Amino acid sequence: MKFGGTSIGKPQRMHGVARLITSDPEPKIVVLSAVSGTTNALLDIAALLAKGDRIGAKERIDSLEQQYNFFIKELLTGSKELEHAEHVLAEHFEFLNIILKISYSEALSKDIVAQGELISTKLFSIYLQQEKIDHILLAALEFMHLDSNDEPQIGSIRVKLMQHLQQFPDQKLFLTQGFVCRNVRGEVDNLRRGGSDYSASLVAAAANASICEIWTDISGMHNNDPRVVDKTIPIEQLSFDEAAELAYFGAKILHPASIWPAQQHQIPVKLLNTLEPNAAGTLISQQSTSKGVKAIAAKDGITAINIKSSRMLLAYGFLRKVFEVFEKYRTPIDMITTSEVAVSVTIDTSTALKKIIKELESLGSVTVDQHQTIICIVGNEISGDGSTLKKIFDCLRSIDIRMVSYGGSAHNISILVPATQKKQVLQQLNTGLFGL
Ligand code: ADP
Ligand code: ASP
Ligand code: MG
Repeated sequence: MKFGGTSIGKPQRMHGVARLITSDPEPKIVVLSAVSGTTNALLDIAALLAKGDRIGAKERIDSLEQQYNFFIKELLTGSKELEHAEHVLAEHFEFLNIILKISYSEALSKDIVAQGELISTKLFSIYLQQEKIDHILLAALEFMHLDSNDEPQIGSIRVKLMQHLQQFPDQKLFLTQGFVCRNVRGEVDNLRRGGSDYSASLVAAAANASICEIWTDISGMHNNDPRVVDKTIPIEQLSFDEAAELAYFGAKILHPASIWPAQQHQIPVKLLNTLEPNAAGTLISQQSTSKGVKAIAAKDGITAINIKSSRMLLAYGFLRKVFEVFEKYRTPIDMITTSEVAVSVTIDTSTALKKIIKELESLGSVTVDQHQTIICIVGNEISGDGSTLKKIFDCLRSIDIRMVSYGGSAHNISILVPATQKKQVLQQLNTGLFGL
């Protein structure tokens, strides 16, 4: 069971989570995110330090500390437990204050941002102790490790996690941190924003769990982005492939990589709402779902790169040369379309953009469009018949479609549009495809 930031964002919510995890006797591992707002605050602190603003960073640290001091007073009633929590907070905030005096580095910023999950799990553990709920707090930093490609490997995570679990053969309830991990150098690292979902899926796969429950602030995956579109509806069932596409292409409810561990180990995933625990939510499993469009997601911050060369005409090996440039700069490609003399690709990170363009220019003329959005339409066998494609184009007559990807997979049609038209596109597709 994984609980996100808002699910533990208030002391009363933490009390609710304690009730949820003890509502049945099944053995379980509970993965917690940081309290909502904390990771953003910690990233702000790291950013202030990176630009040498120690006074600004200190102010931010002090205000976060004050918030937590209020938090524990509402979370805990026992004086012994309150004292324990004060001690925990003092330790973590002392660490942040020490960091203020050290010269900034990327590795240090990872230490800063890890404090959120370390604090939330310790405070929740103290609350469970107060309520006499028997449990063990496991340190994710001791089993959630990345390989030399900065990827988690289930096999090695399993070996280490099992070593810890086997020390407590009669224990039914374990608690651990999401998001945080160690990299191959042994430094504290993380699984990127929203990474607690990924932790949960990795833990479920490593422990061979019967189910992986992701508890959040909405009743399952909706058919469209509820932050952008007014009327959205929850989806009862999705296949792993459909859910993975939606997560990768912007459905924030799931971390982009969080589906593959569960999928590989055939562990069903359920998306549930902490605020409405009896709502059906979404079941994600191997089972294929009914045919047709299920949902739409949008991924922002996309750059489209077009490489045009008459040397591509009837030539082989051209695309390999293009792809090698992206491989060299470890930049994944999301969408691709080709014509006989040109190829367009999209990337979601511009870190190496200048270098990539420079190298691509040796292959042909290069043009770049930034501030684009990928709109991803997901469903079961939607690219088999032309009707979905027709409906999509019918609703998007007034939109400047930059690229279309169709036929790459039976359950995904993606289009690239300028970011400024995203809201309009999502809204029009909501009406055209779902009648909402
Ligand atoms: P948590 O802190 O529990 O991990 P997140 O904020 O990461 O929660 O994810 C839940 C949020 O994802 C929802 O509140 C919702 O605004 C957003 N979201 C974006 N797209 C979707 C979607 N298709 N279905 C459901 N929620 C979505
Ligand atoms: N706390 C981390 C974040 O805000 C991880 C998570 O919430 O899943 O990104
Ligand atoms: Mg999240």
